[in-house]
Amino acid sequence: MGIPGRTDDHQWSQQHLSHYVEGELRPRARHRLDRHAWECVDCLRGIRAMRALVHAVQGLDGLAGVRAPATIFDRVRLAGAGGSPSSQNT
Ligand SMILES: [Zn+2]
Repeated sequence: MGIPGRTDDHQWSQQHLSHYVEGELRPRARHRLDRHAWECVDCLRGIRAMRALVHAVQGLDGLAGVRAPATIFDRVRLAGAGGSPSSQNT
């Protein structure tokens, strides 16, 4: 307690957690947050939580990028048309 600038550092760190985790901070700012998180459990937790969040979001993006096989659409279309596939080899 009573450390000058600690509160400022804390508020600043809280505001830049997401940038820090995404690697968008300049080296100097990154170092500042690093140093603060070293002695601030709140910010350390914040970084971990933010990392987990970023990781989860990236995971969702990965899922969205996966395309369903075209055959699925063919089957749905055929089923919707009410007809049986005329060229089914299996
Ligand atoms: Zn802090």
